[in-house]
Amino acid sequence: MLVARSIDEFNVFRSELTRYGERLSFVPTMGFLHRGHLSLVQLARKRGERSVVSIFVNPTQFNDRRDFDSYPIDLPRDLKMLEAEGVDLVFVPTVSEIYGPEIEGDEREFQSWIDVTSLSVPFEGRSRPGHFRGVATVVAILFNIVRPYVAIFGEKDFQQVRLIEKLVEDLKLQVQIIRGPIVREADGLAMSSRNIRLAPEAREAAQRLSAGLFAAREAVRSGESDAAKLTELVRGELSKSSLIVPDYVSLVDERSLTEIPRVRNPSRILLAAQVGGVRLLDNIALGIEQV
Ligand code: AMP
Repeated sequence: MLVARSIDEFNVFRSELTRYGERLSFVPTMGFLHRGHLSLVQLARKRGERSVVSIFVNPTQFNDRRDFDSYPIDLPRDLKMLEAEGVDLVFVPTVSEIYGPEIEGDEREFQSWIDVTSLSVPFEGRSRPGHFRGVATVVAILFNIVRPYVAIFGEKDFQQVRLIEKLVEDLKLQVQIIRGPIVREADGLAMSSRNIRLAPEAREAAQRLSAGLFAAREAVRSGESDAAKLTELVRGELSKSSLIVPDYVSLVDERSLTEIPRVRNPSRILLAAQVGGVRLLDNIALGIEQV
């Protein structure tokens, strides 16, 4: 497995890998890998292109400096996991490699930000100002460096994958986006690098997020389609633990991410909550079964 730490090094390895016209599949990550990330890597590997994974904790998508400073990192472990998956090339750039050198304190010369206007406003955008500007910008930069044929993103961060689909559509980026389904722990908790920060009682409480979403899906299967009733059902489950402080629970249209009054195809409940001080996201697809 090749590991590139600079763009120059990446370009050398990329030329080697694509010598006979091979294409690249790409999984961008912030590291501290878990089975959710690996499921995306496996989707990439199954496709037959050469596989590239990036590990970059992107400072510009953190609106909270402490969150950035405390983001878990374990590069040796990540590289071992990726090697075991048969990944061809890992790109681990420094912040300066992506955003240019520091000129003063945290300041850099970088000026070319990308804003996906409407999709970045609600939900995570409201709770984390600037977050999606950082995401869209770093993803565009990584796409320009890696030049992948396909890139794979998890539905775990549903607003993010929609935003990237829109970015690619609007800027005519020549990459195909593939969605990977959410990978969960045995009790339903969506896997996340942040789960490690959950204290034992918070970890126990955190299963209520997925439990609430599964209850909503069952209710839809039994004929319920009203947004208020479904989101109340989820909130009811969350309220069973005093450690959970919900941020949003909303039924949205999958394409526009606008709130809708009734389940339609395709729609989704998006959910964010603080659990013992750790911010967790989850979501579930809801659709009317066509018979
Ligand atoms: P991150 O390292 O958190 O930036 O995540 C990198 C990629 O892995 C993103 O596309 C995430 O949506 C995806 N991902 C994170 N957790 C999961 C999960 N539990 N299941 C599927 N994909 C995930």
